Amino acid sequence: MMDDNCIFCKIANGQIPSKTIYEDERFRVILDLGPAARGHALILPKDHYANLFELPDDVAAEAMKLAKKLGAQMKQNLNADGFNLVQNNGECAGQTVFHFHLHLIPRYADDGQKIGWKPGKPSDEELEETKNAIIG
Ligand code: AMP
Ligand code: ZN
Repeated sequence: MMDDNCIFCKIANGQIPSKTIYEDERFRVILDLGPAARGHALILPKDHYANLFELPDDVAAEAMKLAKKLGAQMKQNLNADGFNLVQNNGECAGQTVFHFHLHLIPRYADDGQKIGWKPGKPSDEELEETKNAIIG
């Protein structure tokens, strides 16, 4: 199902042009217009799901398989040295387009990018408390 107000629905379904590197019945994979590195692409399901938690399991599984296949192709054809998969959920997590997408980011030894976080330093007690909070 499409959402008429969603730009990624329009791109995924071909109503807005994009640099498409892969397409099948369920997905379109496009080049990101603001790439972190050469080849940065986005896997877009053609149906509208706002985030990972709305995504059906079978679509999630297909997206991951596609990431592996296209990642290998990009590493080979673009001579990438490594690869990041990034997937943001929620504004505070950096999501800006609320249609599920998986970032495929080829990495190069000299690309000067930083994709990461500032590591915390929790005590063993804090880790124990967090573990217990998650598992409930
Ligand atoms: P996120 O911050 O995870 O929601 O990622 C959104 C991504 O979509 C960003 O990397 C943008 O550069 C990219 N983006 C936004 N609009 C377009 C567009 N029309 N075509 C291609 N990429 C886009
Ligand atoms: Zn959408």
